[in-house]
Amino acid sequence: LTSRIPLPQNRDELYVLSKTINNLLDRIENTIEREKEFTSDASHELRTPLTVIKGTLEVLVRKPRNPSEYEEKINFCISEVDRLNNLVDQLLLLARFENQKQSLKKEKICLNAVILDSISRYSNTIQAKNIQVTTVFKKDYYIETDIYLFSIVINNLVSNALKYSDKNAKLAITITEDNNTIECSIIDSGIGIASKDVGKVFNQFFRSNSTEHPEIKGTGLGLSIVKKLCILLTIGIQISSQENVGTAVMLSFHEEDLK
Ligand code: ADP
Repeated sequence: LTSRIPLPQNRDELYVLSKTINNLLDRIENTIEREKEFTSDASHELRTPLTVIKGTLEVLVRKPRNPSEYEEKINFCISEVDRLNNLVDQLLLLARFENQKQSLKKEKICLNAVILDSISRYSNTIQAKNIQVTTVFKKDYYIETDIYLFSIVINNLVSNALKYSDKNAKLAITITEDNNTIECSIIDSGIGIASKDVGKVFNQFFRSNSTEHPEIKGTGLGLSIVKKLCILLTIGIQISSQENVGTAVMLSFHEEDLK
């Protein structure tokens, strides 16, 4: 840790300058700490599936198995590789925002269309889980945004709503407009989030339901990416949830982004 400049007795310019420098040092140190934490969390998350895959393959090589056991173990490895792939994609996405390489390309887009597109992207899951999807759009709503980045936001939210819902659950997506503010709510009747965890879901690598529902796989990065993108695109985001009742995510669009 870097030492701080002792503050002079007199509250003069030197005092102000020293205080400013000390504050700057605090911020630099916090950033370095966060980076370190991120790297260590990321390495842990990357290493876990690799260790599991290696262990499974080693067992398969050492001891001959019957075909069905082979198939089961290999399918398990494939799903771990998929998870790893997804994790790497998300880490790359996060790194891209950090480096600000992604420049915004705002254009006028139809919000309804982005949502319908996302729903059709997940139609297989919707059918497999028999999720009842309702959309309430009174008209076409237009916003000015970066379509590529905004689609990542919507896809993440829709996929979470489906992923954290049991069979036959409901998903309702509504757009409303009031006093030049457009709001879009994505409400599921899924497993919900414990109240102690709702405030943490935007943190990188945080997963709330992983112990109660180990069968639901994830990286804990999706919502942190969503939050970053919402800040970048000046979209308001709020999440509320109740365990075993469901989760509601509310997006609100700034007046200057409505065209
Ligand atoms: P993950 O890859 O774990 O899905 P996210 O960052 O997208 O990561 O979400 C963080 C955590 O927030 C999830 O692990 C889950 O516990 C909780 N969560 C997010 N969306 C929902 C939802 N619609 N319903 C219930 N829990 C959710």
